[in-house]
Amino acid sequence: MKISASPRENVSWSREVFCCHGRCFPWLKTKAQRLHVSNEKNKNITMVSEKNRGKLGIALVGLGAYSENQLAPALLQTKHCYLAGIVTRSSEKAARWKREYDIPDENIYDYDNFDSIRDNRSIDIVYIVLPNAMHEEYVVRAAQAGKHVICEKPMALTVEQCDRMIAACKEARKMLSIGYRLHFEPHNLEMMRIGREEVCGKVVRIKAEHGMSDTQGWRIDKALAGGGPLMDVGIYCVQACRYVTGLEPIAVEATETPKTKPEKFRDVEEGLNWTMEFPGGIIAECRTSYSEKQNLLRIEAENGWAELSPAFPYSGIKGKTSGGDLKFPQVNQQALQMDDFALAIKTSRPTPVSGEMGRQDVKILQAIYRAMETGQRVEI
Ligand code: NAD
Repeated sequence: MKISASPRENVSWSREVFCCHGRCFPWLKTKAQRLHVSNEKNKNITMVSEKNRGKLGIALVGLGAYSENQLAPALLQTKHCYLAGIVTRSSEKAARWKREYDIPDENIYDYDNFDSIRDNRSIDIVYIVLPNAMHEEYVVRAAQAGKHVICEKPMALTVEQCDRMIAACKEARKMLSIGYRLHFEPHNLEMMRIGREEVCGKVVRIKAEHGMSDTQGWRIDKALAGGGPLMDVGIYCVQACRYVTGLEPIAVEATETPKTKPEKFRDVEEGLNWTMEFPGGIIAECRTSYSEKQNLLRIEAENGWAELSPAFPYSGIKGKTSGGDLKFPQVNQQALQMDDFALAIKTSRPTPVSGEMGRQDVKILQAIYRAMETGQRVEI
């Protein structure tokens, strides 16, 4: 795996150019001439502040709610990466973020000039935080610009899109990761341990529910979201059932819940109940909704049970088991997730939340929709 230039490398290179005292360009006579050449050569390289030295630079693409309220604040806490750049079509946001996060002009892009990010050596990772239907285009463009990529969930709308995203990153020899923050959250990690290590015996049944209310905008537009709550929050249930068992579902059955607001949920489901069959007879019962708040992960095993409620929020996760309460700290999930990816790049090790993992979730989501539409059990 080729590792792209780190900010530390950029700094030493720029110092060499700026501080050569004539040694780098001996054929140019005056200091002004030498400075002109070094500025030209150096124009896409940003000096990295002392506190960010040695960290990988991340550019966020799409400055909506998740970037603004979660990712950017988390990037003030990360140890191995920092917020180096932004991609936005809003000049108001560009000016505000530049001020708040000290982002240099040359690291601010819009969607049209985004591809020129390839010339910017202070950006190592591009993080795609756009509506779901735009993930494929921007992941492919980021990889083709020679950047490592993090893509938000769901990875894409179809398995074919996922395949093209994975292929683009492979071809560019860049790493691809999905924004699965709960793989870095201690309560969810403990549920993985309890399930996979059969701490309470073999898992028999799982309940996973994630729903919210008051959803609007692109999330209820099928063309941009790919579906309704299943794509947005139901995916956490699919993920959770996979990570607590370490197994892949064999088949799914699904039923759409009756629409209470058909005029709002015109082309996406308002709610969905589904089951997943896993090897060994494990059954997962799942629910998702855009009109009801739900947030639960429960494992029932031969000799006991474990439950998170709420299971999936950014903080405030609570857990109990048949053996007592789970006592783990609340952590900044996004900071840990981004730091882990930066470390994976730096040390050339795989990310635990890969494009292949994102692809498998999309494959299962598509099977759930097929089951919902046909009323049939769909094998995966
Ligand atoms: P948002 O609506 O708040 O922001 C979307 C951003 O995309 C905005 O900056 C908007 O300007 C931009 N955009 C560009 N073209 C657009 C278009 N044609 N229509 C609408 N917006 C457009 O959304 P968000 O909540 O920030 O979600 C963005 C992505 O992040 C989604 O894929 C979502 O699933 C994911 N997300 C993940 C988590 C998580 O916990 N991992 C949480 C929230 C969102």
